[in-house]
Amino acid sequence: MLIVEHPGHRPLYHHIVDELPGTRVVLVPTMGNLHTGHLTLIRNAKALGDMVVVSIFVNPTQFGPTEDFDRYPRTREADLVLCREADVDVVWLPSVAMMYPEGLEPDQQFAVIPPRALTQDWCGAHRPGHFAGVGLIVAKLFQQIRPHVAVFGEKDAQQLALIRRLVRDFDFPIEIVAHPTVREADGLALSSRNQYLVSAEERQAALALSQVMTTVQRLYAILQTTRPGQAVAVEWAFEQAMARCSPSWPCTVPIAWDYQGAVDNTSFERQTYLSPGSRLLVAARIGSVRLIDTMALISDA
Ligand code: AMP
Repeated sequence: MLIVEHPGHRPLYHHIVDELPGTRVVLVPTMGNLHTGHLTLIRNAKALGDMVVVSIFVNPTQFGPTEDFDRYPRTREADLVLCREADVDVVWLPSVAMMYPEGLEPDQQFAVIPPRALTQDWCGAHRPGHFAGVGLIVAKLFQQIRPHVAVFGEKDAQQLALIRRLVRDFDFPIEIVAHPTVREADGLALSSRNQYLVSAEERQAALALSQVMTTVQRLYAILQTTRPGQAVAVEWAFEQAMARCSPSWPCTVPIAWDYQGAVDNTSFERQTYLSPGSRLLVAARIGSVRLIDTMALISDA
């Protein structure tokens, strides 16, 4: 397994790729602290090409000044063990200096400015500058690694929509593959941030995200049968779902919702009414952690 963690290692990587013509390189970008969700993406990546590159970089420019950049879990050695076990070919483990040779001051950087239409809502509204940082770092990773395919999790649905647009608008010759969300048995989406859930009550409260969406899914399915053709307002559906679910949530832990809503799965435009092509999106703060989750309205599970 080749580890690229210094600008001097890059020529060796490119030499290896050049020496293997026809090799299909598959990139899985991550921020490390690898869990079963990441490892499932990596396994999937192995089936999509010949050489799997996993990048591990906690990108400072996508974190706001009050966010968790400093405390974000960094587990380099454990991540390398997991990558070795998963038969990863290359781990791209750059330093901040390798990614930002001119430093982090915005006036020293070229910027990637994402389309407002894609970023003014949802996480973009709650995390100003986040998607500009994501766009910049993913564009840099694409240029450095030159993958043929890149795999992203559906869990970060707005990020996935943004990357698809980045590839289209900047003409990257890269196929983007979306991977379904990997969950705990009780429905909680796996995330490196789940470890900030410090008590059993917080862990239990975190189930609110998936529960409210599965309840909207069920409600919609019932209405499709009992009142076919009737328009179902997104806000109403979430209100109904919240009323049905919330009695079972631990009341000692407040759940502060950032948003609950729906977009068209293809255009990512906000929807007022549910449709078979809807994707549900939720984000909430529980204790000190902000979690996000998403599900297609009509589950393909
Ligand atoms: P992160 O390290 O959190 O930035 O995630 C790296 C990649 O893994 C992103 O494309 C995420 O969408 C994806 N990912 C993270 N958690 C999950 C999960 N539970 N299921 C599927 N993909 C995930």
